[in-house]
Amino acid sequence: MTGERAAELIQADHQYLLQSYVRADFVIERGEGVYLYDSEGRRYLDFVAGIAVNALGYGDRDVLKAINDQAERLIHVSNLYHTQPAIELAKLLVQSSPAFAKAFFCNSGAEAIEGAIKFSRRYARAHVGEGKTTIVAFDGSFHGRTMGAVAITAREKYREPFMPVMPGVRFARYNDLDSLAAVMGDDVCAVVVEPVQGEGGLRAAEPAFMQGVRELCQRYGALLVFDEIQCGVGRTGTLWAHEQLGVQPDMMTVAKPLAGGLPIGAVLMGQHVADTIHPGDHGTTFGGNPLATAVGTVVFRKISDPAFLAHVQQVSNYLDEALQDFANEHADQVIELRGRGLMRGVRIAGSASAVREAAHRHGLLVATAGEDVIRLLPPLIIEPQHVDEALSGLRAALRA
Ligand SMILES: *Cc1c(COP(=O)(O)O)cnc(C)c1O
Repeated sequence: MTGERAAELIQADHQYLLQSYVRADFVIERGEGVYLYDSEGRRYLDFVAGIAVNALGYGDRDVLKAINDQAERLIHVSNLYHTQPAIELAKLLVQSSPAFAKAFFCNSGAEAIEGAIKFSRRYARAHVGEGKTTIVAFDGSFHGRTMGAVAITAREKYREPFMPVMPGVRFARYNDLDSLAAVMGDDVCAVVVEPVQGEGGLRAAEPAFMQGVRELCQRYGALLVFDEIQCGVGRTGTLWAHEQLGVQPDMMTVAKPLAGGLPIGAVLMGQHVADTIHPGDHGTTFGGNPLATAVGTVVFRKISDPAFLAHVQQVSNYLDEALQDFANEHADQVIELRGRGLMRGVRIAGSASAVREAAHRHGLLVATAGEDVIRLLPPLIIEPQHVDEALSGLRAALRA
């Protein structure tokens, strides 16, 4: 099935690229709307979206125009100087919720998490002094691959080979307040939690759980940090996933979809946190560069438009019903449906990666989360007909 051209490229991939990923056995060449095309001209319906990055699909005219216009003007100049695009995107992000007063830009999700960890420790040191440094995270969490982010990521497989990672981390069980209460203490400076878990299996937080998390943070003087790197920016049908929980964070990390496929990360925080960070405390060369933030401004404006979010909600409801039907039809194989909005998990009795490979052969791209969860992360611009097409791809894949 792999053509000659693809075979040659894949062989060169194996020769020259560090083999730290298991990639699919085709070469993607271009995208259009919600479809990708490989080097053999085969078309795939994309229910991965570059891992929740390509929210506007491929070839969005406004994104392309923003890239071209800004690239001609200025791509990078460093944080030694003021530039307008970063200021504009920061203003939009800060004004998106009363919880936020300031934005810090960086270049990836993991880097946003590192920033949030440092700001939490800085805040605790400013208010309490030394010793209040512990971070609490949850089972099923995924926060990235750098030494701090991986330390608060639950899966041992990601941490063990690199020990010692950042010390001072305790884990509690997701959606289990008693287990959180058991690990809280005066040494905790922050609780980091995904309102809807991504990589770790697509579980969504219960509102009552998150309200309890908020209260425990208050009681122990710990900051509540939401990681909305995957679930934020419209993915769950509201601009921020936590809007559906009735709880406000002290700090929040954003990344994946924010700049239309260009690398970006951001930490949003309340004024009380911002007040404890001073010039020189933290920095990054590329963070907030004019190109990424100019595109981010366009992406954020489009997605935060109430009409756009209403579309995401409608197509989410359609997907929800389609998945319920699918689960009922395959009651012997489907164990559980998870997730929110256009961030959905289908837990199955068999191997999720086997279904993913079979889906590829039927022209559908899906991701996995762990061993037994098929993860669906379509571009937010999908229409009901794409849901139908994806579900027939999944049916064919499950039969295979
Ligand atoms: C992807 C992801 C990260 C890490 O982002 P990178 O850009 O890959 O470093 C952190 N948290 C969540 C919830 C993610 O989905």
